[in-house]
Amino acid sequence: MPSLNDIRSTFLGFFEKNGHRVVDSSPLVPRNDPTLMFTNSGMVQFKNLFTGVETRDYNRATTAQKCVRAGGKHNDLDNVGYTARHHTFFEMLGNFSFGDYFKSEAIPYAWELLTKDFGIPKDKLLVTVYHTDDEAADIWKKVAGLSDDRIIRIPTSDNFWQMGPTGPCGPCTEIFFDHGDHIWGGPPGSADEDGDRFIEIWNLVFMQNEQFEDGSMRALDMQSIDTGMGLERIGALLQGKHDNYDTDLMRSLIEASAHATSADPDGPGKVHHRVIADHLRSTSFLIADGVMPSNEGRGYVLRRIMRRAMRHAHMLGAQDPVMHRLVPALVHQMGAAYPELNRAQALIEETLRSEESRFRQTLDRGLRLLDDELGKLPEGANLPGEAAFKLYDTYGFPLDLTQDALREQGRAVDIAGFDTAMAEQKAKARAAWAGSGETKDAAIWYDLADQHGATEFLGYDTEEAEGQV
Ligand code: ATP
Ligand code: MG
Ligand code: MG
Ligand code: MG
Repeated sequence: MPSLNDIRSTFLGFFEKNGHRVVDSSPLVPRNDPTLMFTNSGMVQFKNLFTGVETRDYNRATTAQKCVRAGGKHNDLDNVGYTARHHTFFEMLGNFSFGDYFKSEAIPYAWELLTKDFGIPKDKLLVTVYHTDDEAADIWKKVAGLSDDRIIRIPTSDNFWQMGPTGPCGPCTEIFFDHGDHIWGGPPGSADEDGDRFIEIWNLVFMQNEQFEDGSMRALDMQSIDTGMGLERIGALLQGKHDNYDTDLMRSLIEASAHATSADPDGPGKVHHRVIADHLRSTSFLIADGVMPSNEGRGYVLRRIMRRAMRHAHMLGAQDPVMHRLVPALVHQMGAAYPELNRAQALIEETLRSEESRFRQTLDRGLRLLDDELGKLPEGANLPGEAAFKLYDTYGFPLDLTQDALREQGRAVDIAGFDTAMAEQKAKARAAWAGSGETKDAAIWYDLADQHGATEFLGYDTEEAEGQV
């Protein structure tokens, strides 16, 4: 059975053999795009090649790209532990053409790799195309011999990709694998499409248009290809598994978590182990790429992920810091493909250990407070915003950590109440400061801090450029 490491090599080797330059993953903190929080797809490092602003000595490339989707427009944090197919950190395998080949080659490449090199039975695969993209539908029919009911036409933005509000865009085709009718879920486009039966493995984007500010569109002179396939998803199916978390790599991290917490990997704490394994990867790779936990920006997203993982370790009964003890298992699995993990190992371990030691001091007490509060509420009632705010303010619980804890019990936080409590506290602080007589301009600083999110990062969602493949 191929390991995830083998599958990554097979993918890159296939495209190298077909004239593509193997390019290293770019860092998780985008070098060329301040509007994007984290690299969240393979195309990010190539943006300027697609727009023609930059040229290089190759016009075909292939990569295994580190991606994090835990903030901004693509945020899969809340899916982790709940679906079989989402991670906060994952590897996106891609092939790219910069004004070189287009649809009539991109589709056959994908089909050949999937059905010949990977040996996936054709009758388990189906595809979507954008509803007006007859060209792609015809190529699928010709190349793969798929029947019409296996080429599903989708009219939504799921099948029309845009780099941003303006710029290159175009239809895309998504390839799905049917894991069988014992799993809940319907085919893409159906009412049950969010289930895990039909899993999207590969997304091929055909950049053929340019979008302008006034809403008009024109055909691009330079047509390009951008594709992305989740290594963990293709890995699961090639290993005969349905669930990404049952792949060799994820499983070894889950076992490390089970060992460190002495809690059965498949017992009632199963979900906790999955979340820990996932968050171990995102936090370690972020630290290796230079992000450090802090109270704002990228660092706050990192801190939130770390603290969520730490609560899950606590739920497994861990009395001492756990996360740093799992790092060697990760380095063992992924250090060969990503040497930056080896280089940063000591820093990752130390950062996790000190962050977890500190957070544990308030975690226990915060969770007890949460239990007390919940005990006072009628069954299923939402947690009052004030309690969530106290957890945030006094115990260092990011709001999403509290929400994550409540979700296990089918409860939520009263967000409006939380916002009110936050606003009241800010007003009080401002009044106290103004009353101190130190400076009458102090209020301005508070306003600035509010506007710029000095204490809490609110996300790049508003203007973030598209990062989906
Ligand atoms: P989904 O609809 O399942 O959320 P997507 O359409 O958002 O996936 P794309 O943006 O098209 O995903 O990314 C390209 C590929 O990357 C997907 O086809 C999938 O194989 C993989 N992928 C996307 N998001 C994740 C994730 N959170 N965890 C693991 N793999 C992912
Ligand atoms: Mg998605
Ligand atoms: Mg999708
Ligand atoms: Mg997709």
